[in-house]
Amino acid sequence: MRTVYVNGDYIPETEATVSIFDRGFLMADGVYEVTSVLGGKLIDFDGHLARLERSLTELDMLKPAAFDDLLDIHRELVRVNEIDEGMVYLQITRGSDGDRDFVFPDPETTEPTIVLFTQSKPGLANSPAARTGLKVISIPDQRWGRRDIKTVQLLYPSMGKMMAKAQGADDAWMIEDGHVTEGTSNNAYIVSGGRIVTRHLSNDILHGITRAAVLRFAREAQMDVEERAFTLDEAKQADEAFVTSASTFVTPVVEIDGAPVGSGTPGPIAARLREIYLDESLKSAI
Ligand code: PMP
Repeated sequence: MRTVYVNGDYIPETEATVSIFDRGFLMADGVYEVTSVLGGKLIDFDGHLARLERSLTELDMLKPAAFDDLLDIHRELVRVNEIDEGMVYLQITRGSDGDRDFVFPDPETTEPTIVLFTQSKPGLANSPAARTGLKVISIPDQRWGRRDIKTVQLLYPSMGKMMAKAQGADDAWMIEDGHVTEGTSNNAYIVSGGRIVTRHLSNDILHGITRAAVLRFAREAQMDVEERAFTLDEAKQADEAFVTSASTFVTPVVEIDGAPVGSGTPGPIAARLREIYLDESLKSAI
């Protein structure tokens, strides 16, 4: 049985409880982060912590008292749950003031709720999807307008995954005004004529921590990178496509809406970026 962390305590998962009045439960009023674990170490931890702080600020939530101990808490959960490859999930909500009200409770008297748990995923770095590639479908982007904040409001992305599944695909790329925003739980890229194209940062997409690292490594390796919106048609004509996220690293996309991307097999640039990302982030894992 897993040991989880809830509001200061390390407890068995079956003993972990949160109030029914918690605003995370009632209103999706909370933020989260997922940090990968490889070889028992945390990947890109500082990036996830910085984004967490930004998400809290954007929602006028105070940092919980445990904020400064988050690295220790992550490490302790990895240790007690013996995670070699997997993830640490962290969620902070605006907490509960014992009732339901649209108005935010006073942050001075209502403590945020903080929960962390681990997920063991042996073989994470060597997933079959990296070799076979993913099939994606396109769906309209029907999420809210602050996708740069990593909130737990994941119903539409979840519906998107189900739409993909219903069509025999793995994931969905979301489309707004003819342009790809991102995948349901990852950032989206295409490669055309050797140039890597991914949507620029704005409120329209999550500012992926893996995205930032991969673009940095790509530039360091003298690869050509362009940050701009690309259309679904461009993606379908591209030589390669891929996605990035903390839990999937760099994973090729080989089919969009039933049509092959390029040769219909994982491309060399995605493979190279995956290799560089895994090598480099393992070196800086903590
Ligand atoms: N976009 C969305 C919508 C996501 O949910 C995620 C994963 N949380 C990402 C992008 C990738 O972000 P990261 O690389 O920080 O995991």
